Amino acid sequence: MGMELRVGSRKLPPSRMANELEKAVVNEVQESIKKKLRTIRCPQHGEASRLASRGGHKLQGLNMRIEGCCEVLIERVKTSLEGSR
Ligand SMILES: [Zn+2]
Repeated sequence: MGMELRVGSRKLPPSRMANELEKAVVNEVQESIKKKLRTIRCPQHGEASRLASRGGHKLQGLNMRIEGCCEVLIERVKTSLEGSR
């Protein structure tokens, strides 16, 4: 693979690079979901949902859960996230 990742003037070794890329991907996924969650509010309680994630910055074993005040909100979030694919 002819790709190289630099942080500042440091060149990362391939193993570090995989980690950094993974971290970046996980971050990006989480950020885009969070952004979306902020726009969806519960019609009954006016609350937004939260993203609870576990598993750190590894794609494997990443465990994300969406928490909200009630079923209605969770359903809305689900529909919205699925519709964006
Ligand atoms: Zn609610």
